[in-house]
Amino acid sequence: MKVPLLDLQPQTAYFREQIIQEITEVVDSTCYILGPKVTRLEQEIAEYSGAAAAVGVSSGTDALVASLMALELQAGDKVLTTPYTFFATMGSIIRVGALPVFADVDDRTLNLDPVKAAEILEADAAGERKIKAIMPVHLFGQCADMSALMDLARQYEVPVIEDAAQAIGAEYPFIAPKNNEKATWKKAGSMGLAGCFSFFPSKNLGCMGDGGMITTCDSAFAETLRCYRNHGADPKYYHSKVGGNFRLDPIQAAVLSVKLHHLERWHTQRQENAQQYRRLFAQAGLAGDQVALPEAVYSNASDAEQHNIHIYNQFVIRTERRDALKEYLQGKSIGCEIYYPVCLHQQDCLETLGSYAAQSFPVAEQASRDSLALPIYPELSNEQQEYVVEAIAEFFRL
Ligand SMILES: *Cc1c(COP(=O)(O)O)cnc(C)c1O
Repeated sequence: MKVPLLDLQPQTAYFREQIIQEITEVVDSTCYILGPKVTRLEQEIAEYSGAAAAVGVSSGTDALVASLMALELQAGDKVLTTPYTFFATMGSIIRVGALPVFADVDDRTLNLDPVKAAEILEADAAGERKIKAIMPVHLFGQCADMSALMDLARQYEVPVIEDAAQAIGAEYPFIAPKNNEKATWKKAGSMGLAGCFSFFPSKNLGCMGDGGMITTCDSAFAETLRCYRNHGADPKYYHSKVGGNFRLDPIQAAVLSVKLHHLERWHTQRQENAQQYRRLFAQAGLAGDQVALPEAVYSNASDAEQHNIHIYNQFVIRTERRDALKEYLQGKSIGCEIYYPVCLHQQDCLETLGSYAAQSFPVAEQASRDSLALPIYPELSNEQQEYVVEAIAEFFRL
């Protein structure tokens, strides 16, 4: 049996005709830059995410870059983020002339740890006060601890840009700063000043190329983002700012509007697959010592079962024997991947930027040694999941 890490064939076959129809409309309209398809998708994503506005951009990376540009940071400013994420989180910070500062992650979620973040912010506030933004990542489809992080943001008066690239539709029981009683469910991208989404094909909502979106509840910030998306022009040919070409392609927007209608079903299927893995691992006597399964940490919040507390963009297990297991599974035609083998503070490109090499973030570093993503895509069959878990059980018996 073959079990790919991700198979886009079934969903593509399902709405192939509809997508071709939508693309044909773009072709015939001759409107190839922004236009009605992009505006429609922006409205749909804003509504879906519970944000006031959304701005379509060319990729998740460009969503981050444009959001940071719109903060108008100065050279030498710093952005606090996690060392355990896809490179674009840090790359975007450096590309706007700022420097990343890291705080270690929480061992259960692998998201930015608010306690560690508080230490860094406190030290910064006592000294140079260079940290001008916080960029948490909602890794693998589960939100970072946003109540605590937004509380820090208020305390230190810095905006929060959410890297929600892996978490469209993920929900979080949010307690607004100063309102420390009742949690309200909020979606990724609607809690900070802005939320950045990626439509890279392997995300839960993926297009057929590159695409991205920025959501915000601040309408003035939305206008600033629209300006930066289009070379900083406002009006056309008058540039008070230097932006870029960060526009979302209308063909991609057309594809995404079709697929958005299926997103909730896909989330549910991924969640069912996660439950099935939990059952299978337990039956095989694997969960626990040898293999740790990902936790949905907000499952104790009230009404949690009615909310997407984890959308499982990835189902990441952890094991000491990760590298050998990966090789074994690949030998059995089971797709799996390491997210991420090198922490950001250990990347070679930082060598010219200062003293990152001396830093250590033990929780993130441990995760880079023991985490392995298994197939979790919506159409994965029970038989395929059984095959995956059997193979893992076999490996641990060797
Ligand atoms: C995918 C991803 C991005 C970048 O998105 P692209 O659309 O590929 O540019 C940024 N951050 C995280 C955490 C991601 O997973």
